[in-house]
Amino acid sequence: MKYLDVHGKRLPVPSFFQVYNYGGGNGDKDREIVYSEFTGDTPALINYYYINNRYPHIFQSHAFDDLSGYSKIGDVYNDIRKMLIQDKNEIYSNYISVPYDFNDKVFLLDSGAANIVKKIAEEIDYDVSKLDEVIVQHMKDYYDFADKLHVDIVVGFDLGGKYTEKDGEKSNKKLCDFLATIDSEKINNLLLEETIKYLASKPNFYPYVLATIHGALQTDYEACVDYILSLENTYLYKFWGFALGGIASYKQVDASWYDDINFKKTKKRGFVETVTPARACRLVRNKVGDRPIHALGCGGYPNIAMNYYCGATSFDAASPVRRVGDGNLESTKMVYNPNPIPGSSFSKYFVGGINYDGTLRSEPCSYVKLNEVKDSMPLCGCPACLSAGSVKNIKDLYHMKAQDDEACYYSRQLMGLHAVRQHRKLCEVISNYPDMKSFVAAYPSTLNTNLEIIYNQL
Ligand SMILES: [Zn+2]
Repeated sequence: MKYLDVHGKRLPVPSFFQVYNYGGGNGDKDREIVYSEFTGDTPALINYYYINNRYPHIFQSHAFDDLSGYSKIGDVYNDIRKMLIQDKNEIYSNYISVPYDFNDKVFLLDSGAANIVKKIAEEIDYDVSKLDEVIVQHMKDYYDFADKLHVDIVVGFDLGGKYTEKDGEKSNKKLCDFLATIDSEKINNLLLEETIKYLASKPNFYPYVLATIHGALQTDYEACVDYILSLENTYLYKFWGFALGGIASYKQVDASWYDDINFKKTKKRGFVETVTPARACRLVRNKVGDRPIHALGCGGYPNIAMNYYCGATSFDAASPVRRVGDGNLESTKMVYNPNPIPGSSFSKYFVGGINYDGTLRSEPCSYVKLNEVKDSMPLCGCPACLSAGSVKNIKDLYHMKAQDDEACYYSRQLMGLHAVRQHRKLCEVISNYPDMKSFVAAYPSTLNTNLEIIYNQL
């Protein structure tokens, strides 16, 4: 495997980044930190908006009230883990916790600027003419924050793609009007130039920086890369790498990214979400030489090989852990019923993939409701699976919800962190194969053969 050196830490190529949303949610988000040993030194993406109580938000944690005493982001998470285990006792009583140091992990900080801009809107009383000046100050504060905590890598401050209204915001007419008037293309370009000016003036800036690329069409995307490269020439500064934004959801991009692809050949429409990120990776790779490329939010299992063979060096996804969040109390009572239960809401187990010893698993790759997973199915051999022992044990723990909440949370982490490990395992495996063809020949699952059909049309 090839590695990038990130401040003395080894970042494998490619790398799957686990998304830590502690500070943006409770419950499973807490336990993901508590059981961090199951994913070892898997790199993590964290969100500035969630870990910064300057921006009040639901689920914010007191752990982030005052970070002035910290100079390492890993120490922040070490203290949070200690607090969750020792003070809040958010750990299963029959599990013996082991020492863990978050400083072994590569941390990638993303801004969450799409949320921050709403706070800015309030701050400037929805006066768009003040936005440029104020947002640039927030951008500088973001980089200062990352520098002070010695975050390993930062994603350039960027508004993100198209703004999507969430429930509850629609009623705020002032905010909706404000957001509708923003020219995000113009603001993002301003932020790129201000970013490079800031960095050129700070030769000792600690984090490695990824320039964020955005654009509605493929031609816009190319133009954005060209613009960044021209800024580099003007300001005599070189970004460490690039972050690809706004491409994670095919529903939010222009159909011209994927509408020339024949999806019928795969008998499944489900592959449409792999095309835009893959094309974006290839397009950027062709322009930037061998620098790192991170595809934001594009680390879902079907995306990984496509992105890698199109030039990405890393990606992230919240989905492996999010799928366990689907489980409700009702489902814990029915977990021994192996039949599909219409309307039920179970935590989902990642089935299929690749065993820890590198052999291809026989089950078709998908997230399956826990009750429908056979007790006899062998586990993959990852640290979470070793701790689980068997599917039956996971179900027993899941079933204990009513008497012992922590037993159920533990079962959900065994599932979610196994899924994270599967994403990481796939990264390790594909790094051994020079192209999609040789990888699929060695791992001829239905998923992979279908991916190759799409890949060959890109
Ligand atoms: Zn596993």
